Amino acid sequence: MTRDGALDPVGRIEELRATIRHHDELYYGVDAPEIPDAEYDALLRELVVLETEHPDLITPDSPTQRPGGRASATFAPVEHRVPMMSLDNAFTADEVGAWVERTRRRIDELGADREVGLVAELKIDGLAVSIRYENGVLVQAATRGDGLVGEDVTANVRTIDSVPHRLPVGAPPVLEVRGEVYLPIAAFEELNRAQVEAGERTYVNPRNTAAGSLRQKDSSITATRRLAFWSYQLGEMVDGPTLVRHHETFEFLASMGFPVNPETKVLGGLDAAVAHCADWQARRHDLDYEIDGVVLKVDDLALQRELGATTRAPRWAIAYKFPPEERTTRLLGIEVSIGRTGRATPYARLEPVFVGGSTVEFATLHNEDQVVAKDVRPGDTVIVRKAGDVIPEVVGPVLSDRPKGRRRWKFPTNCPVCGASLVRPEGEADARCPNGSCPARVAGAIEHFASRGAMDIEGLGEQRVQQLCELGLVVDVADLYSLDPGRLAELPKFAAKSVAKLLAEIESSKDRPLANLLVGLNIRHLAGAGATALASHFGHLDHIEAATEEELAAVEGVGPVIAGSVHQWFADPGNRKVVAKLRDVGVNFNGPETSALPQVLEGMIVVVTGTLEGFTRESAEAAIKGRGGKSPGSVSKKTTAVVVGVGPGASKLTKAEELGIPVLDEAGFVALLETGTVPTQS
Ligand code: NAD
Repeated sequence: MTRDGALDPVGRIEELRATIRHHDELYYGVDAPEIPDAEYDALLRELVVLETEHPDLITPDSPTQRPGGRASATFAPVEHRVPMMSLDNAFTADEVGAWVERTRRRIDELGADREVGLVAELKIDGLAVSIRYENGVLVQAATRGDGLVGEDVTANVRTIDSVPHRLPVGAPPVLEVRGEVYLPIAAFEELNRAQVEAGERTYVNPRNTAAGSLRQKDSSITATRRLAFWSYQLGEMVDGPTLVRHHETFEFLASMGFPVNPETKVLGGLDAAVAHCADWQARRHDLDYEIDGVVLKVDDLALQRELGATTRAPRWAIAYKFPPEERTTRLLGIEVSIGRTGRATPYARLEPVFVGGSTVEFATLHNEDQVVAKDVRPGDTVIVRKAGDVIPEVVGPVLSDRPKGRRRWKFPTNCPVCGASLVRPEGEADARCPNGSCPARVAGAIEHFASRGAMDIEGLGEQRVQQLCELGLVVDVADLYSLDPGRLAELPKFAAKSVAKLLAEIESSKDRPLANLLVGLNIRHLAGAGATALASHFGHLDHIEAATEEELAAVEGVGPVIAGSVHQWFADPGNRKVVAKLRDVGVNFNGPETSALPQVLEGMIVVVTGTLEGFTRESAEAAIKGRGGKSPGSVSKKTTAVVVGVGPGASKLTKAEELGIPVLDEAGFVALLETGTVPTQS
């Protein structure tokens, strides 16, 4: 120990080596690491730095001096005739540059007057295997182990579809092919779905699942795992073709029937290499398998041989590692949020952690079954993953950090917002709050109504909606159209200008297309495509409201689930009331077809009262709006004409007479629709 309590270099080096060995055992030995790779890499880097500062302390068995891993006694040992190496890492463009520089200097020292031509390969996140063929027949497959001795996994590798059992005629009599066994993301997700269904713990990530699957004692289990393989290197080869460049290896491997990754690229120089790494970092999630970096290799095979290797890694290659997308942090608590459809989603409250490019404080836990499968408990150290644009999620707990007796978390039986009993229908993954007036559901529904894909009301985000709901200014989405500017102006941090802007935004949302309105109504299962299909088929909201479930389901692009949900939604008296309110305030109910009619009534206001023979009330209004007119529920001095059927509303009629507004019968109405001019009164 030093005087300030820190370990001296010898102590720290020993401590780091022991910690790294512990994690190596978990990672390579039992395929169940308990810390993310980035945290392991940080430990290894610290050790490298200390050993560089104190070269006299380097020992041959240090984890910096040999590839991690060892052959487990479960499998027969396989001696590698050509060692299987690890790779040195670079974490920044500068470190890639430094490696290129170092390599160039070494080449100069070797007196070899050659350029450093590079090949870039994706760094597949799986595990390395070596597969040996003798006289064209697969005879042995082995894991890397410690680089010199691996594990015999022949029976298991034979179960991988893309690994050939026999090579074509003309294959070299001895050929050792190296590459990566990996689990495609789709196969990983399917496996985890099955685990959740069976109430079993989920697998943490595809790489460890691939390793665990390959290192099964019973190869029939491996066979069920849908493992795949990319080849990228040769080991021992007898009487093979003469290859000059590394990239020629791929052509040869492909000709022998091995899968070769199509994203491999020969690069011009350092700039191209750096750009290539950055490009893949941005696109890493476009692939259906996981990669954790890009491997750069010297293309000239003679140079590779001359550059040689350390005891741990070749000097002719470097792995550029992407920034981490997994980190550990403390799980402070598990909460449940209630969405706009009542869905109860558990989420983790975390000690803030910087991961995947941003600070994460909350992460989804999806649903009750997932919490059970992940078995995360408040207080646990957990692994948090934030990959690309995907919302952050908790992957699992670090079990070794969990004290005995920590309790399992229980999913609440009641809605945390309104207290209603949560319901979870048989066969569904989600519990829901059934209370349509639950404040969380109401706020969520209004927020959704104002969102981009729906009525697109700028300035009406989560916080503003919360404020309006808390003060009782809105109870349903239709209330937005009758907000009192005076009350709004009283809200904190809401200047008069912002109030006016918001009201103008709300007003202009009345003219949004019918499909947007449908999306905004928050009907379960109904999203953009279904809404567009319904809007163009029926042409008017009233027709959708009036349609039977069968009529709805008959629309192309609308299946029985959406049809049932839409029908059920409109059958609810509360929802019908909202629709009526939206109609009264003049929100557009017309679909694209009717709006294609000649807009002869633009700027006109036509009020309909009483029963007409050829129109229902709704279709009369639709006919007016479809031609660009408005059809409110009351008469004012702005009204252009009042259409009167049988049994008209007395007040409307009196008002029309008082204000001297033209009164039309049905024939007059039809003429108005056709010509756009108010006929002489009949
Ligand atoms: P590495 O993963 O950094 O690089 C070497 C390996 O890369 C090869 O063995 C091969 O399997 C793989 N690879 C993928 N694509 C390749 C390609 N195109 N060409 C060549 N090789 C390719 O080194 P490593 O020694 O296998 O293991 C270190 C890795 O394992 C690090 O990512 C480390 O974080 C992780 N690890 C994690 C823990 C943990 O506890 N989380 C413990 C040990 C190791």
